[in-house]
Amino acid sequence: MRDENCIFCKIIAGEIPSNTIYEDDEFKVVLDVSPASKGHALILPKNHYADLYEIDENVAADAMKLAKKLAIHMTDVLKCDGFNLVQNNHEVAGQTVFHFHMHLIPRYLNAKNND
Ligand code: 5GP
Ligand code: ZN
Repeated sequence: MRDENCIFCKIIAGEIPSNTIYEDDEFKVVLDVSPASKGHALILPKNHYADLYEIDENVAADAMKLAKKLAIHMTDVLKCDGFNLVQNNHEVAGQTVFHFHMHLIPRYLNAKNND
């Protein structure tokens, strides 16, 4: 399932370069090109779903399991002190790329890493 006009589908296919930090059969996880903090990552399902309204519920459940695994791993590696897990739906909520994704945004007590 792919949308020919979708930038994240192109990233998943390797047609647009990305900084990939994790990949399996179902997901690709890349660093955000415009990070809100050091290590800001995007969890992308490989199949195209526009948003939470459209996503298969099993894929959504797997995305949440992966978010937990990555949060633990990234806390270990990045030494962050907390996380925001953010997922925007529709333009009015701030969604700019219409391929479902979850933002993993590490937060740091040391404020210089937060932006
Ligand atoms: P949204 O606002 O839809 O929740 O988040 C879209 C995110 O995708 C933004 O944080 C934006 O910086 C990121 N983004 C947009 N284009 C690209 C790109 O080509 N590569 C990467 N790695 N991130 C992108
Ligand atoms: Zn897509």
